[in-house]
Amino acid sequence: MSARTWGFKSPFAHPQMATLTSPDRLVLRAPRLLDGTGAAPVSDAALLLDGGRIAYAGPAAGLPSADGVVDRDFPGCTLLPGLVDVHVHLVSSAGPDLAADLPAVEADRTLAAVANARRQLQAGVTLVRDLGAPGAEAVAVARAVEEGTIAGPRVLAAGPAVTMTGGHIAFLGRVADGPDAMRAAVRGNLAMGARCVKVIATGGVLTRGIDPREPAYTQPELEALVGEAHRLGLRVAAHAIGEGGVAAALRAGVDSIEHGMFLDPAAIELFLATGARYTPTFSAPHGILAGPSVPSWIKDRARPAAEAQGASFRAAVQAGVPVVAGTDSGTLDNPHGGVAREVAFMVEAGLDLLAAVRAATAEAADLLGVPDRGVLRAGAHADVLVAGGDVAGDVTALQRPAAVFQDGRQVA
Ligand SMILES: [Zn+2]
Repeated sequence: MSARTWGFKSPFAHPQMATLTSPDRLVLRAPRLLDGTGAAPVSDAALLLDGGRIAYAGPAAGLPSADGVVDRDFPGCTLLPGLVDVHVHLVSSAGPDLAADLPAVEADRTLAAVANARRQLQAGVTLVRDLGAPGAEAVAVARAVEEGTIAGPRVLAAGPAVTMTGGHIAFLGRVADGPDAMRAAVRGNLAMGARCVKVIATGGVLTRGIDPREPAYTQPELEALVGEAHRLGLRVAAHAIGEGGVAAALRAGVDSIEHGMFLDPAAIELFLATGARYTPTFSAPHGILAGPSVPSWIKDRARPAAEAQGASFRAAVQAGVPVVAGTDSGTLDNPHGGVAREVAFMVEAGLDLLAAVRAATAEAADLLGVPDRGVLRAGAHADVLVAGGDVAGDVTALQRPAAVFQDGRQVA
């Protein structure tokens, strides 16, 4: 007989998960519901959660009769899918100097990742993609969340980012040069447990040397990496700030461009031709430029990218490029759990509010290969954020979680 049958609680289970476990069937009601697809808000709404899945989502009037089900009303609130952040670094904790602040020992970095995962969940984030760690830290967190031994969002982890000799952010990655080494890097990450790939296609703001606007890898190197990743069923995210690197990465077939602060018409055409998603990461330069202790050489490198970002974003949105929400959380003064604020930045930059919510829910989950999350519809996983206000009227209400459900259980 299994331990579970005896009601044994694992000593590794996070106490919050144990104490807040909800009944199998649950009705949630609120004056508003946004389903994550960009559809118009539903008024006087209800959700029926059953066995970790959504059994009904829509107007309360259409709710199937459900006798003996716990019924919870959230006056003044909005029901939404749990939020998705497609770009985080769980090992790092948003200090002013990323390289220096990263714990030197893998065990300590893993503990930091566990704490940061919990912060994400408490902010209503139920799914993240981790885009770079020195080793298997985020992969371990992903497995522990799946097994239910720690509290955190579901994690799709890239493992170490793949970067060239002299390239950006080698301390969150592995160095590879030449097409064969690119293929080997993908296989090495796969062996570690990675379920997606991150490649550094241009210089970066946080790394001296190669300029953020300059391409890093050659076309054959990028094509070797993407070809191998796709052959193995792994999607690829490319860090790319300058338009040349963006175009090279898109021509190689990457699935998303991270940052993309400098976009020209040719890059936008390539987005449309390939169907790749665009993750503008407004939170990243915002943290760098607003952070009081961030070194001035980093601010100087970030400023031109930050200044170009709004115009690039508006041009991409107008052209119909699909955008997703990613924060680069963990980087300088960019704390975990900030994707609700990223949504607000997108709205400030001109994106329609419902499209911005979609970028942090259905669109993002689809990019991560889990289209049955990030959406409130019958059959989807019961990941739900109850936001403390009318999100359709005030996007900042997303930053005030009233309750969070993951696979049908209340976790915050
Ligand atoms: Zn990043």
